Amino acid sequence: MAGPSLSLDTPAQRRLASELLGWGQPRPAYETGLVADLRDHLESGFAPFEDQLADVAARQRRGHLLITKTRLDRQVCDGLQLEPRPFEHTRASVRGILAHAVIERDGDLQRRQDPAEVVAQVWHDEASRRPGDPNSLSAWMNAQPTAAAEELRDELAELATSFREVWPELPPEVIERRAEKPHLVTLAGGKVQLFGRPDLILASRRRDDRARALVVDLKTGRPRSEHDRHELRFYALLVTLATGVPPFRWATYYVTEGRHESEDLRSETLEATAQRVVDTVGQLVRLGAFGEEVPEEALRLRGGGWCFTCQREDTCEVAAAARAGRAVSQPDAIM
Ligand code: SF4
Repeated sequence: MAGPSLSLDTPAQRRLASELLGWGQPRPAYETGLVADLRDHLESGFAPFEDQLADVAARQRRGHLLITKTRLDRQVCDGLQLEPRPFEHTRASVRGILAHAVIERDGDLQRRQDPAEVVAQVWHDEASRRPGDPNSLSAWMNAQPTAAAEELRDELAELATSFREVWPELPPEVIERRAEKPHLVTLAGGKVQLFGRPDLILASRRRDDRARALVVDLKTGRPRSEHDRHELRFYALLVTLATGVPPFRWATYYVTEGRHESEDLRSETLEATAQRVVDTVGQLVRLGAFGEEVPEEALRLRGGGWCFTCQREDTCEVAAAARAGRAVSQPDAIM
């Protein structure tokens, strides 16, 4: 990402170009054996439960265990892994989905249109996609009263405007912008697949022995530093394995706040994330080996801030104990 002119129109753009994009700064060389080492870590990690893995994978609908950032998140508790709350659209989740789409479209259009026009286009496209499906995003959007829909569109236009103020336009002849590009990595002879769509990858068009891509996860909700960092690291691992080259940096960008948190390339971080994948596959194999019904006494439960995403929350004693513990140590945390 070194090189030609970058038009920096605001102090925020200058800061982002320096601190996040590292514009004009040298890129790190990466260890040539890194990708092979990560694959070895994963494959050797699966070895102790190889036979059960084959059985459990064969019983999956697609014939393999699919590991996504969501499944990694749920590894924290067996109950959550088995019984997560079904996803439901809320104003916050829809705002996030549409904000991603607007920022992506604005980039595709190279900022040639007014943000409100970009929002109107995205709104129209998304609201027309699957209006007949009551669980779809479009059904949620179409059910909004006019005033609520307008308010949300105004907010999205504001987010797109503030994104432009902080992010400089990147020259396409130097930087390839990949938004929501699917990445798939096959492991264990096809029995495990890692899959994800990083929000944004900014990749230098230069190819050499340097790590030159930046992986960005865009967040519009409340920052959850540790959780967000784990999700991002999974994307960094995925990109490394799928492309054969690690990113030089990965970052969570909080759109509403206009700030980022980032980590620079370290093989130890990618190795630790590979271990999280191994642990998650191990958990799914252990639970899957019981078949349809996992006995209650076999569950390893751990309560915490994630319990609100679990269907068992209302009756779970472990969750209640965790809430009580938090109430004692952090009285404000539960208000
Ligand atoms: S409510 Fe919390 S502790 Fe209980 S099973 Fe769900 S995630 Fe685990």
